[in-house]
Amino acid sequence: MRRVAVIGAGASGMMAAIAASENARVSLFEKNEYPGRKLLQTGNGKCNFLNDAPSEERFRGSIREKGILSPLITFYDKEYILKLFSSFGLLYHKKNGGYYPRSDSAGSVNDVLIAELKARKVDLHVSTLVKNIDRSDGGFFLTLNHLKTNKRSRYEVKYDAVIITTGGKSAPKTGSTGDGYYFAEQFGLKVAPPYPALTRMISGDIFFNDNTVRTYAAVKLFIDGEYSGSSSGELQSGDQGPSGILIFDLSGRASRALSEGRKCHIMVDLLPELDEDSIYSLLKKRWESMGEGDEKTELFLGIFSERLALKLDEKLGRELFGARNLPDVLSDKDLRDIASMIKNMRFHVTGTGDFNVSQVTSGGVHADSLNPDLSAKGIEGLYFAGECLDADGDCGGFNLHFAFASGLAAGYAAGDPDRVSN
Ligand SMILES: Cc1cc2nc3c(=O)[nH]c(=O)nc-3n(C[C@H](O)[C@H](O)[C@H](O)COP(=O)(O)OP(=O)(O)OC[C@H]3O[C@@H](n4cnc5c(N)ncnc54)[C@H](O)[C@@H]3O)c2cc1C
Repeated sequence: MRRVAVIGAGASGMMAAIAASENARVSLFEKNEYPGRKLLQTGNGKCNFLNDAPSEERFRGSIREKGILSPLITFYDKEYILKLFSSFGLLYHKKNGGYYPRSDSAGSVNDVLIAELKARKVDLHVSTLVKNIDRSDGGFFLTLNHLKTNKRSRYEVKYDAVIITTGGKSAPKTGSTGDGYYFAEQFGLKVAPPYPALTRMISGDIFFNDNTVRTYAAVKLFIDGEYSGSSSGELQSGDQGPSGILIFDLSGRASRALSEGRKCHIMVDLLPELDEDSIYSLLKKRWESMGEGDEKTELFLGIFSERLALKLDEKLGRELFGARNLPDVLSDKDLRDIASMIKNMRFHVTGTGDFNVSQVTSGGVHADSLNPDLSAKGIEGLYFAGECLDADGDCGGFNLHFAFASGLAAGYAAGDPDRVSN
């Protein structure tokens, strides 16, 4: 019987092993003591495993640009993934545009995958680090580090196929330390440089120097002055900069651009649902009703929280009037300028959160080195799946969908290369 090795028991590796086991004997190697360590942390422990509206528009990277991604998530689409998890015995529900296990516990998703591996007799080797992959004699041989005993062995099993699912470089404490890039480069494959994505931005601006900002907003990212993308949602103060899902979704582009020495800034609209004239009218009405001795922050009463109003007093005071706070008397023009600033706040982005705090990695094994079934060009039997590939999606279940879909594609192809599917 054909033998397949899968390296890494995350979301993509477990799914690849399950798919490959239909036609092959599968061994799954994981350096952690248990599978799915990152999966257990997803969605704040609730695991948003699928989006209700998957679309290639929500991804970046060469896997999308070179046309590999679209057929993958179209064939292994929402219905396919939901049906598959149902067949594994998972109850799920839909919330906020995404799918979660009914238990609201990521453990349920991990548990059904592990149960399925067991049912399909996949040989699971935990606490086992794959150090090297040698190709010889028409197959693959692995060098393993047994982490419990600290012994190294060259595993004397010849595998017909190897699927590398070692993840990216984000959240390295969960085990993803970029080993897949090293293996790919050893085989002479192209790897797009990895950057942290789905992370906060750093600006150093006083507006974000504490944790007071928490408001619905729209954000546009500019790279070297050119518009690069936009997002909306809850804006928060992070560590020295803006945070929140809307920032996360733009952060991969910013970290890539900054590392290339390019300049980034964001424009924040604190009231995207209103135009400037409407904001001016609101401010004017409030200003006219304010009496002597009223706090200036009352200008924003009913519009922003008190904490945010204090921040605006400080920020607008400095940037519009060169003073610490807004002046005691405001002219009509001042009110118009304040309305304009509320819709157009500019912040330089000087950095982003690093791999330790990023949720996914942008970059990875490049589409130029891959066939549509995720096998490596020119190296028969070598496959890749999951986050080690050059594809990263927005927040909201897109990345796990990709991990599962790519795991299925690589797993079926590695288990039976003659199979005709996606
Ligand atoms: C905090 C957090 C929250 C997230 N929330 C969501 C969410 O709600 N929805 C969503 O869609 N996405 C979410 N993501 C992203 C998503 O979790 C990942 O994109 C996805 O899990 C990647 O799966 P993977 O199997 O490709 O990689 P990983 O999960 O990183 O798995 C790779 C595995 O390979 C193992 N490994 C690495 N090298 C070796 C080696 N040499 N030998 C043996 N084993 C090795 C690692 O130990 C690891 O277990 C989140 C990420 C984080 C960090």
